[in-house]
Amino acid sequence: MGEGNTLWYLIGYIFLGLAVMYTIFAGFAYLFLYKWRGKFYWASKIQQYYPERKHIMREIWLSVSTLVIFGVVLLGVAWANYHGYTQAYHPADKYGYWYYAFSIVIMVFIHDAYFYWAHRLLHWKPLFKTVHVKHHLSINPTPFAALAFHPMEAVSEILVVPLVAFTIPHYPTAMQIVFIYSLLVNIGGHMGYETVPKGFVRHWVFKWHNTSTHHNMHHRLVKCNYGLYFNIWDRLMGTNHPDYEKHFEEVVDRRDKERLAKLNKKVWAKKNKQKPVKESVGSRAVQQG
Ligand SMILES: [Zn+2]
Ligand SMILES: [Zn+2]
Repeated sequence: MGEGNTLWYLIGYIFLGLAVMYTIFAGFAYLFLYKWRGKFYWASKIQQYYPERKHIMREIWLSVSTLVIFGVVLLGVAWANYHGYTQAYHPADKYGYWYYAFSIVIMVFIHDAYFYWAHRLLHWKPLFKTVHVKHHLSINPTPFAALAFHPMEAVSEILVVPLVAFTIPHYPTAMQIVFIYSLLVNIGGHMGYETVPKGFVRHWVFKWHNTSTHHNMHHRLVKCNYGLYFNIWDRLMGTNHPDYEKHFEEVVDRRDKERLAKLNKKVWAKKNKQKPVKESVGSRAVQQG
């Protein structure tokens, strides 16, 4: 493949890939939770009201701008990969598959630290007022808020990719896995609905992973809960909201009570359905008799 063709291939692969991925992940989460099954899962809704349409439209348009910026930076990295300037290696088992797996873990932890500290910096008053405020206009976020950034913030978010690409030996698909995982965690944090089970935030292992309630509180209360994947940096730096666990339990208790009530209703409906059937058989027997 000539250089020109490779460039067009990369442009298509990156921009189309980003657009399709975001549309499927965020679009599906939005349609499912806000349109098709919103009422059914209402008790899981962290903030018990829907955001205004103008905020959803802003989230979508800012996401489009972010995707374009992400695409340009990723294209630069892919081009550098192609010319052998980055730490990307071939074939996949060059350092063994254990290293392949380890590189994914290390990239996630680097991204987690990068995100936390970049986010803290974005909350520095001058940057908050001019840049990060765009993201915080979503007080009650939807899945589309995941990439609703001011262009400057979009650049700062994606700069972690070249940072990692030029320093950590990795196979390209390992980095793609991290990218997809980060996107899913990010969309999960902006879903507006809590999905993980009761006790998650007090479990000795799971408490180290963030929940949707965690980031939802960041949007509502602003000066707390800055982390992305893990609840490590917020715990270390004392920036978890003191009521995080309490609020999480309130949300899941409401959700689980509603689920139980629905289940009971179903059982009753089933029982009551059975009765008339019995009666009609009986009454028919009486009639026949
Ligand atoms: Zn923030
Ligand atoms: Zn957010």
